[in-house]
Amino acid sequence: MGEAVTCAALARSYSRRCPECDFSWAISVGNAINLVAAAPTRLRMAFSASGEQLARTPTVLPWAAVSYLWHLADVLRICAERFWALSHDPEAAIVAYDSEQLAEARGYAQQSTAAGLWALERATGDWLAAAATVHVGDPYRHPEFGQLTVADVLRMIAHEVEHHARDIQRCLNGG
Ligand SMILES: [Zn+2]
Repeated sequence: MGEAVTCAALARSYSRRCPECDFSWAISVGNAINLVAAAPTRLRMAFSASGEQLARTPTVLPWAAVSYLWHLADVLRICAERFWALSHDPEAAIVAYDSEQLAEARGYAQQSTAAGLWALERATGDWLAAAATVHVGDPYRHPEFGQLTVADVLRMIAHEVEHHARDIQRCLNGG
């Protein structure tokens, strides 16, 4: 399951578009935030259009749809906490975590789709609130990618959403 690693590599690349999902790194910060804000409704519609069985069916992708859903919910939750720390406790370290290990520890593949959609909605709300407490030009010391700005991180999260929303759609369409 190398999907998270792939995302990291793509985020680090300087190409203007993601070769897999066509996300443009030239996206404005406002549009990046809007893309994230739209994720809960977008994914709720995608999952409601398919049966529960399809959410768990293995495809050519590393994970099934339900796992990508829980991954996104956790990515947004963790990023919200990091933004909050940056604005309220700027000396605190931004602590790295391993997406693959988190997926394993949380048992994404066995989790509820309904609860995942709820978790994503809650995490997105908290992410938007936390993002409003930081400034786009603020320095952000990313544990994997080094010195970035908040604007870079907003775009990275928008890419996570776009990339995995497409993964989910592919899974639900049968790969
Ligand atoms: Zn992508």
